[in-house]
Amino acid sequence: MNFSNPVFAGCFIYILNMKKLLFFCFLICCSFFKGFCIDKIEITRVDPPNWWVGMKESRLQLCVYGKNISNSVLSINYQGVTLIKVNKVENPDYIFVDLDIASIAQPGTLDILFTLGKEHRTYKYQLLKRTGNKDSKPSYGPNDFVYMLMPDRFSNGDPGNDIVKTCNETQLNRDSMFYRHGGDIQGVINHLDYIKDLGATAVWLTPVQENNEPRTSYHGYAITDHYRIDPRFGTNELYTQFVNDAHDKGLKVIMDMVYNHVGTQHWFIKSLPSQDWIHQSDTFFQTNYRVTALMDPHASEFDKHKMTDGWFVKFMPDLNQKNPFLARYLIQNSIWWIESTGIDGFRIDTYAYSDLQFMSNLMAAVKKEYPQFNAVGELWDHSVAYQAYMMQHSKILGAPESNLPGLIDFQLCFAVSEALNKPMDWTDGLTKIYYTLSQDFLYAEPDKNLTFLDNHDLSRFYSVVGEDLRKFKMGIGFLLTTRGTPCIYYGTEILMKNFSDPDGKVREDFAGGWAGDKLNKFTDAGRTPAEQDAFSFVKKLGQYRREHEVLRTGALTQFVPENDTYVYFRSNQTSTVMVIMHYGDKAQKLVLDRYHEKLAGYAKGVDIVSGNEVSLNSPVELQGFSIRVIELKK
Ligand code: CA
Repeated sequence: MNFSNPVFAGCFIYILNMKKLLFFCFLICCSFFKGFCIDKIEITRVDPPNWWVGMKESRLQLCVYGKNISNSVLSINYQGVTLIKVNKVENPDYIFVDLDIASIAQPGTLDILFTLGKEHRTYKYQLLKRTGNKDSKPSYGPNDFVYMLMPDRFSNGDPGNDIVKTCNETQLNRDSMFYRHGGDIQGVINHLDYIKDLGATAVWLTPVQENNEPRTSYHGYAITDHYRIDPRFGTNELYTQFVNDAHDKGLKVIMDMVYNHVGTQHWFIKSLPSQDWIHQSDTFFQTNYRVTALMDPHASEFDKHKMTDGWFVKFMPDLNQKNPFLARYLIQNSIWWIESTGIDGFRIDTYAYSDLQFMSNLMAAVKKEYPQFNAVGELWDHSVAYQAYMMQHSKILGAPESNLPGLIDFQLCFAVSEALNKPMDWTDGLTKIYYTLSQDFLYAEPDKNLTFLDNHDLSRFYSVVGEDLRKFKMGIGFLLTTRGTPCIYYGTEILMKNFSDPDGKVREDFAGGWAGDKLNKFTDAGRTPAEQDAFSFVKKLGQYRREHEVLRTGALTQFVPENDTYVYFRSNQTSTVMVIMHYGDKAQKLVLDRYHEKLAGYAKGVDIVSGNEVSLNSPVELQGFSIRVIELKK
């Protein structure tokens, strides 16, 4: 290039200036877009969404989730609250923040300052004042009679929430057992008086936490957000209102908790904090459903591993509660529900499928805050010893301390089914009940067991007894007069029937729970004579039990079954109730001599159901397949 040529020289200067101009423009643009170019601090969610001052456990661990949140530096400045540690995990989108909330801390807004380079963001975290006397109030137990229901199938109190467009499952189909039917929390609120009228004192709803699965999510056991009530059931606020309304009517509320698994659409499953958050393997690894492997002294390691770490079903990822951050997450979530809603107890799903040390720690943490809080674990197995092994303060040598107050008493349920379907002999029929209860020596507190005849997984009791109303009454009568915390499944009181194959058949809608239903079985007029007979029987004994302590906490004394008859007594310092169960088509008379130790001092009795007086000076008349509940009088 000839720079002496003025044309060339001019061109060069022009190009040089253009380059400067372009560079200058580049700098301007960079400056302009600076706000978009730097890393922003994203906080998608913080769990628990709030906490309280004045908890007995001062430590709190926040799960903070947001894009690359682990790059941020945290600081707080709040009197009484100390930032102990920020824990990072495999996934940079999570941090687990350890705080200590001293007793001097006051309620207020805790500003958590996130810093990333020159960027700052303040997250406002609410520390609330505790309300009520939740740590000292009594929980549910043998003084109660529990009414259990599936909210999707009980009553539709709010058709406006039947279909929620933001949810993955948007279909409603009452003709299919696999789809949602529209029942909700408002439907339960609307029928609290019905439940109370039956003599019940507590309500257990199958899980109401969000289940945002693409299909078959109505049952609630595939949780996708631990902190949210499913919008098809209502809102968190409505659930709290339900608890308050129930309490106002003298009904306690039991929340169904699931620790073993979650739904595939759970927000943390879609972005795992770490690979060991759930149990994973190259191919689908299913549990063997053999609880026995956990206490069998001869069990193989393979079977133990398969039991606990195998998945319950393909669509429910199996949580690894040995991960300490997950364990804290689940424990704090449990306490959060108790403190924020005032619920009275837990029912724990698939209890033995979770890590048992975790389950023990969970209940210890719950009882640290709420010493009287009751929980019953689901242990669907086949021996009293297995159940007793899992109950707190177990008398079985070598059993770990579970801190679990009670079990769902499958053994007694199975015994009743056998007792009402087989003639009595040395081991079977009514004798089965006798043998099952005689093994109560294995339990620390057998009364804490939740006793039942059927539930959402088992065949309906009326079908189990061959739709024989006499046997139905024997079962109900037994349930409400023997030891334990009795529980009735919705619709059993109106003779809903079916066998659980598949389980959707025992989860049918309660007739009258939906506007436009042809029949309304919530009312006397809507029931057939047989249904009304069954309903009145449950109500009679349910209300009697509610009003008479002797049936709730009185000592149980049973006599060896003889001549197709099983006799037992409930007694306390002031009262005695005699119960006679008779299996067999023929009427017979019960000679009373054998029961002198319990009858001494009493002159007569009153049949609770009929109101008729019963003489104790002559044999008691027993109809075929019958139960008599007799209050003894001086
Ligand atoms: Ca609804």
